[in-house]
Amino acid sequence: MTTEAHALSQLEALVAHGPRFHGTETMRAASAWVESELVVMGHAVRREPVSLPGWHPGTVRRVLVTAPVERELPAWPMLWSAGTDGVVRGHLEVLGPEGIWGDSIVWQRFGVRDTRGRIAAVVHARDDGPAAPQPLPAGSDDGVAHLAIGRLDGLQLAEWIADHERVTVEVSLDSGPRDRSVSDNLIVEIAASEPGSSDPAVSGTVVVCGHLDSFYNTVGAYDNGSGSIALLELARLWAVSPPPRPVRIVWFTAEEWHLLGSRHHVEQLDPAARDAIDFVLNIDGLGRGDHLETFVGPERFGFAVRDAIRAYARATARTLTTVDRFPPTRGTDDASFHAAGIPSVFCTFNDLHRLHQPEDVPDPAIARNIAWTVPLARSLAETMPRPERTPAPGLL
Ligand SMILES: [Zn+2]
Repeated sequence: MTTEAHALSQLEALVAHGPRFHGTETMRAASAWVESELVVMGHAVRREPVSLPGWHPGTVRRVLVTAPVERELPAWPMLWSAGTDGVVRGHLEVLGPEGIWGDSIVWQRFGVRDTRGRIAAVVHARDDGPAAPQPLPAGSDDGVAHLAIGRLDGLQLAEWIADHERVTVEVSLDSGPRDRSVSDNLIVEIAASEPGSSDPAVSGTVVVCGHLDSFYNTVGAYDNGSGSIALLELARLWAVSPPPRPVRIVWFTAEEWHLLGSRHHVEQLDPAARDAIDFVLNIDGLGRGDHLETFVGPERFGFAVRDAIRAYARATARTLTTVDRFPPTRGTDDASFHAAGIPSVFCTFNDLHRLHQPEDVPDPAIARNIAWTVPLARSLAETMPRPERTPAPGLL
């Protein structure tokens, strides 16, 4: 079997468990499958439980525009949203922009003002692509429903409102809080080969990570079944041929819940354990396509990673468009390390039109990008020298 065909069959086996939403039975089953694959390779797996305020997405979710025309808008509950008590009726007004994952991306918010004159629900319009849920920012009103709609529907609502037409809607949602949700981070420690590297620049630990969990509405083949399978392939390679420096592979849970799995993990590390990490390599979202995004900090480390990726693309005759974003955003697990002053790399083939969608299913183009990324990740983990640390971010 080619590495691409193997990656595709592994991805299909992973997503067959269903959505991997933190705290659910299907997440537990997928996590047990990953562990069993690792045990067969000869690895010991450590589990790190992550317990969070729970939430369920419910099954009733509706945003129905009733004037100026009648139209139902595809909509998803934002994670941690309250439900409505029956149907909320009112008219829309523009509330203004909203930062998602810090200010990584900016959405627009509309309030639904009900007949009693209060804002009884919030509609969030995405900056790009179809409706897709995200976690609510801290401080969001936990007494009202929050639903996410797509970019074009948001533009249409803004245009109607600007035309001074009264835009009336009916909103219903039955999501809401649950006691606690628990799933585990999965951790595999791979010792350096004997005798290992004698060069201190390549003898510290590298953390190679990705998140295993998905959003509630998808099996998350690209986000992030792809990275999870890439990590399994790396574990398989290193089981046979260990790296010259220690590598810790981590499948995080609760990335989709504001990175709470990786934040919990980093909080457990004492200063010596943090300092022992040379850098973190986060693989999140190997989607279809040829557009590779990397987010690296500190900046000088980013220059080195950029050169290594370009050399690898040339060597593999891969035509890519690339973008390097600096500083790294707060959108995925490397941010938990970056915030603690640990150098970090995040790689993604972003696939915005599949992000948090039921259509995010296995695809040969995803498998191709897994197969292409695994040797790159292996080479970065094995050969990139320990970057110079800059003071932990605290300044803007
Ligand atoms: Zn992701």
